[in-house]
Amino acid sequence: MPHLKYFGSNLFIENSSIVNLTKKNKTPFYVYSENQIKENYLKLARSFKNSNPLICFATKANTNTSIIKILGKLGAGADVVSGGELLKALKAGIKPNRIVFSGVGKTEEELKMAIQKKILLINIESESEARLLNKIGEKINKKISVGFRLNPDVDAKTNKKISTGKSENKFGISIKNFYVIYKNRKKFKNLKIDALSVHIGSQILSDTPYKKTLNVLLKVVNNLKIKLKHIDLGGGFGISYERKNKEINLNKYAKLVHNFKQKLNCNIIFEPGRSLVGNSGILVSKIQYIKKGPKKYFIILDAGMNDFMRTALYEAKHEIIPVNKVSKKNFGALEFVGPICESTCKFTSYKNYQKISEGDFVAITNAGAYGSSLSSNYNTRPLIAEILITKNKFKIIRKRQDLLKLINA
Ligand SMILES: *Cc1c(COP(=O)(O)O)cnc(C)c1O
Repeated sequence: MPHLKYFGSNLFIENSSIVNLTKKNKTPFYVYSENQIKENYLKLARSFKNSNPLICFATKANTNTSIIKILGKLGAGADVVSGGELLKALKAGIKPNRIVFSGVGKTEEELKMAIQKKILLINIESESEARLLNKIGEKINKKISVGFRLNPDVDAKTNKKISTGKSENKFGISIKNFYVIYKNRKKFKNLKIDALSVHIGSQILSDTPYKKTLNVLLKVVNNLKIKLKHIDLGGGFGISYERKNKEINLNKYAKLVHNFKQKLNCNIIFEPGRSLVGNSGILVSKIQYIKKGPKKYFIILDAGMNDFMRTALYEAKHEIIPVNKVSKKNFGALEFVGPICESTCKFTSYKNYQKISEGDFVAITNAGAYGSSLSSNYNTRPLIAEILITKNKFKIIRKRQDLLKLINA
């Protein structure tokens, strides 16, 4: 997280002190760096410049309107997976003709909303969905521009809980089934097949699975001699959560994509989520209690798995760093845990750590993607605040949920 650093012993995001934020805001809360988000987008756009793609931010990574707005102003579109996300993207000012809609279970209501709002592309994920969409098209006497999401049966070599492109995953349509649908396309008179899409998984750190996917797509297009307006290559670019993570070589992949685009002569769409916002945010939390266990200390935070679920859900690793750094490194073995009544409500463990005390603040790092957007009211806890830093200024971009409102809802 380049915009997260210590000045002296104090943790800062851009030119704002985190200690200062803890004095003015109740913990836990999320903090994001506006400049980090911008740099991430511009870096991605620069890497793929030759293919001039439409970069659709996968809003499920972070659904905060202010964050979608920052990306929209730089030229990003949106990739949405529900009617709610579609409305959020529109509210954030994303133009409908820059929105793509994916998901295996879109309802009739959601499909109608997507048509009515005139979005760029609905990516169909099953024959049944194609039938429903065709029926809607018949009723309104319109030909609907659609894409088909293919399941290329490629192993993204990532955590199996975030792998989506293998035949055993529920996502997309197998190549074989797509061939059948395409052969029978006369049955779908009110659909216009303008695109093919893929999304093989998340936190992908090698270009090999992407390369395999491009080859599958080329083969399909060549076999069917199909003329497409767009190819949607999905997202999934991995980020560096731990120092030992190597980052994906985007320049190498960009060359492959450029080559691919020249062969097919169509627009390229990407759907990145994590790589745009993951390293832009931290979750700041207070140490509520320190409990000595037989083998290690339990550092009990005021943030729980309802606020940040990635460790419980995916066993994801997130470094936890002190807001106030001291040189004494003699605490011994400890595990950061949360207050929720579940054994999986725990975060990172360390064999040794600096001296910390009850009441100190720490930051869970790289929490900008799939952090806030995955949070819940479990254990009847209010959703926490989200704060955006721009240089030395901070702005609350989501207020902490009012506990009484939650109780009376
Ligand atoms: C989640 C998702 C993405 C974004 O994935 P990242 O790993 O965050 O880049 C893109 N496309 C679809 C269809 C998704 O479901």
